[in-house]
Amino acid sequence: MKRKLASIQSVLAIEPIANADAIELARIQGWQCVVKKGEFRVGDAGVFFEIDSVPPDDERFAFLWRPKDGSALAQPANFRLRTLRLRGMLSQGLLMPLAQFPEIPSGLATGSDVTEILRITKWEPQIPPNDEVDGPFLPGVPKTDEMRVQSVPEVLTEIAGKPYVITVKCDGTSATYGLNRHTGVFTVCGRNWSIKRGTNAYWHAAEKYGLEALLGRFPQWIIQAELVGPGIQKNRLGLKGIELRVFNVYDQEKGCYLDHDEAAAILATNGLPRVDVLERGESFSHDQASLLALAEGIYPGTQNEREGLVIRPQMETHSSVLGGRLSFKAISNRFLLKGGD
Ligand code: ATP
Ligand code: MN
Repeated sequence: MKRKLASIQSVLAIEPIANADAIELARIQGWQCVVKKGEFRVGDAGVFFEIDSVPPDDERFAFLWRPKDGSALAQPANFRLRTLRLRGMLSQGLLMPLAQFPEIPSGLATGSDVTEILRITKWEPQIPPNDEVDGPFLPGVPKTDEMRVQSVPEVLTEIAGKPYVITVKCDGTSATYGLNRHTGVFTVCGRNWSIKRGTNAYWHAAEKYGLEALLGRFPQWIIQAELVGPGIQKNRLGLKGIELRVFNVYDQEKGCYLDHDEAAAILATNGLPRVDVLERGESFSHDQASLLALAEGIYPGTQNEREGLVIRPQMETHSSVLGGRLSFKAISNRFLLKGGD
């Protein structure tokens, strides 16, 4: 499911903030966001912009970067909506009155995506070096992605009561390994593209774990892992060398992911490290608040805040909310407040 950076949302609740007369808290989906007092009432529709949104350099958004003296200023380079703490309150995203956006057609339903109409783009941590790009992603293989629980709170109802597993989200970059189902060629992919064979971290990991030979024997398997180690993102796991942390095994013949335990068994047999399991249980009963609390912590053996968690049923399950596999993430607010990316 694609992120809706800007969407029509209705205000679920308005709550006062202690010792603040000009602002209050609005709840939108699973998010909380500080708004001007009196601007919204419960049930009002507004335009909600998620964190990581980059608004256009438009007068309506200029209050976000205008200096206090009111002087004009262009949008700063690298600007994005961030996680903030205002008067002690967590504030994520931006809620604006619908009336400020005449370009939005009237009568759009709650949840409608207005990202494109409003020319909102997504902030990305870095421009990936494209000298390594070889060609398209492995055909027929899903790319890796996870939605945030606050944007799709209904997933909590879908997973409630099911056997589940919560893994630690590793801070690295996505890598996908497998044989091209048409050509049989061993292929290494990043987030969106295949990567040229060479002295890069993706191929280094392939060699280290013997993936070409392994997948040659099991051409149906696709291994999806976080590539972690020195030189990748901020190496928050504090590793000395390049490693993998596998989070998916996909069967490209059957067109499905393997269940957690089946994947774990295959990975153990073949010496492939997987993402750490933080919690598993027979009946999922977390709510958003308990997941966000659990998301906060440090990577073992380091002082580095972990990015968060990924939550899944032990047995692969279709999600109608997500329109695909039931799996989602809870990002640590402590990580976000410290400027995590
Ligand atoms: P967003 O969509 O929130 O803007 P994004 O698309 O960059 O952000 P990520 O925050 O990178 O998404 O989250 C999804 C990615 O997390 C997956 O593609 C995968 O590479 C990585 N990941 C790391 N650890 C895990 C894990 N334990 N389980 C699943 N995926 C993981
Ligand atoms: Mn995403």
